[in-house]
Amino acid sequence: MAKTGFPLPTAVKVREVGPRDGFQNEPEVVATADKVHLIEMLAMAGLKRIEVTSFVRPDVVPQLADAEAVLEHVRLPADVAVSVLVPNERGLERALSHRDRFQEINGFLSASETHNQKNVGRSVEESLAGLERTFARACAEGLRCEGVISTSFGCPYEGHVSPERVLAIAQRFAAAGAQEVGFGDTTGMANPLQVGEFFPLAFSALEGLELTAHFHNTRGQGLANVLAALEAGVTSFESSFGELGGCPVPAGATGNIATEDLVSMLHEMGIETGIDLEALLDASRAAQRALGRRLSSHLLTAGPIEWK
Ligand code: ZN
Repeated sequence: MAKTGFPLPTAVKVREVGPRDGFQNEPEVVATADKVHLIEMLAMAGLKRIEVTSFVRPDVVPQLADAEAVLEHVRLPADVAVSVLVPNERGLERALSHRDRFQEINGFLSASETHNQKNVGRSVEESLAGLERTFARACAEGLRCEGVISTSFGCPYEGHVSPERVLAIAQRFAAAGAQEVGFGDTTGMANPLQVGEFFPLAFSALEGLELTAHFHNTRGQGLANVLAALEAGVTSFESSFGELGGCPVPAGATGNIATEDLVSMLHEMGIETGIDLEALLDASRAAQRALGRRLSSHLLTAGPIEWK
């Protein structure tokens, strides 16, 4: 059957966000040594982009209070782009004490006013102004900047979020020096039709930027949204091994798409990721042992497809 939209890409980039998005949402603090070991396993599995930690306030997110220690101890191949999340200028200042240990920063806000207030206690405009200063400073340090826009596809408190609002924020990120913008479906509200309509608008509004899709599987629509994004020309995705992670508000907004489920689907479709699925599954199994509980990715349950 004839396909509509773009031909599917032959290769995509996957950024692993589990060490940040995942560990920050664990009820228990994961030991630094376990984090370091798991990040190194992810790199060995072929992940070339890894968000390793976050410089949020340690009293607010004690799970990531060891950000400096993780950066100091983790040993990664030179071709792995290490990113850290920084919420604001103060976070960037902390991160810069380890400037030689990472290459990218990720700054985030929510497109919806209510979600941003509940998540970071600021208005969207306050967050945006802070991130503009943060990106300018980071660019001057030679860092690559990604701006992530949470609740890009819907907000649990406000409902619909207009693409115009999301893209206006993305354009301000770009003007402040961001080379990549991530669109987060933070609470799992996006559907494939919506995604298929959004990205063509985004590509024409944000020429020259790398556009990244960050889907959550909260309601089981994560991989369907990935397919819609692929068909709209997206070649960069963020996901979390083991399906770790979620969003602190509201409670129950669980689950990034699992990296192993994403990689399995892409490989079955003939799309290259450079990732060794078996080695990635080993990392997710090691995470299960470190956390002392079963993780919820489909591949952990069913195993990879074997064509006999
Ligand atoms: Zn996420």
